[in-house]
Amino acid sequence: MSRFFSRNFAGLTPYTPGEQPQDKKYVKLNTNESPFPPSARAQAMAAKAAAGLQLYPDPTCRVLRERLGALYGLTADEVIVTNGSDEVLSFAFMAFCDNGVIFPDITYGFYRVFAELYRIPFEEIPLKEDFTIDIEDYKGRKETVFIANPNAPTGIPLTVAEIEAIVRSNPHRMVVVDEAYVDFGGESCAPLIAKYDNLLVTGTFSKSRSMAGARLGFGLACPALIQDLETLRYSTNPYNINRLTMAAGLGQLVDEEETRRNCRAIIQNRQYTITVLSEMGFDVLPSAANFVFAKHPAIGGKDLYLQLKEKGILVRHFDKERLKEYNRITVGSREQMDALLTTIKEILEE
Ligand SMILES: *Cc1c(COP(=O)(O)O)cnc(C)c1O
Repeated sequence: MSRFFSRNFAGLTPYTPGEQPQDKKYVKLNTNESPFPPSARAQAMAAKAAAGLQLYPDPTCRVLRERLGALYGLTADEVIVTNGSDEVLSFAFMAFCDNGVIFPDITYGFYRVFAELYRIPFEEIPLKEDFTIDIEDYKGRKETVFIANPNAPTGIPLTVAEIEAIVRSNPHRMVVVDEAYVDFGGESCAPLIAKYDNLLVTGTFSKSRSMAGARLGFGLACPALIQDLETLRYSTNPYNINRLTMAAGLGQLVDEEETRRNCRAIIQNRQYTITVLSEMGFDVLPSAANFVFAKHPAIGGKDLYLQLKEKGILVRHFDKERLKEYNRITVGSREQMDALLTTIKEILEE
């Protein structure tokens, strides 16, 4: 730390992203990226947009917001687009948390980082023994609620009815539902937006839409909430969506059918992976996401992670007490899963 670093931030523990090794080629199952490239149209439109990079992008992102809105039955003024969904989550922490925040003790690690960054009092609510969320813990509380649905790194979803019960239980407090993984078998809360003015739903192009490298996320909410988020966007980085990303995003949305097909393939590969891992003796949580969370009685989580890495396969291990026997494994292509399963079998036989 330099002697110039603000005392306001000196105590921060930043978010630790998954490894993105640049040295050798791994079978990369550690950051829940898609094994499929963006659609040919998305690629071509981004390439074409490169010729206009001397110009700033459209700060209103109007067309992209209209198309995204149409996909969810909403209007453009009910949509904000951001540099990854991490950015809309960051804005939500800034905008809506004067009464503190609550979120599960096991969930997306960024929530805690944002709470600390913005000095928002937070409480982490323990998941039940089986890693599910008890919705009763969140009903009627005054703090803003952040819930990843499906949750990470467990993959376990809540139903829309369960989330609606939380939203309805206190209309004077906001609920933010992070739907980064919803396209892999969860139910979107977007249809609730017409009914509730205390609900923000966030989504991303990073997982189901194969665009993690482009950084494109979005928020869906009633127009007044979107306006608040826009105030923060225009106060930090009005050109947060660059021309290449905007063009690729528009192209990918035209090919929504391809996205759906890719998601169906991932869901199939997930079922296959769960079946084979279970046959090998793994305990696998019931996932509705593009990853599985699994542990084996004969090998520690860290040990398995390290041995897989040694053999060229990257998965995500968390050192946290309740998680350390597990690994979070991204569900990729059938070939990637076969490489993983064969290697795990070898490790267990050794
Ligand atoms: C991946 C992820 C995000 C956001 O990713 P972006 O790439 O910033 O859109 C948000 N929430 C959860 C739970 C995630 O796993």
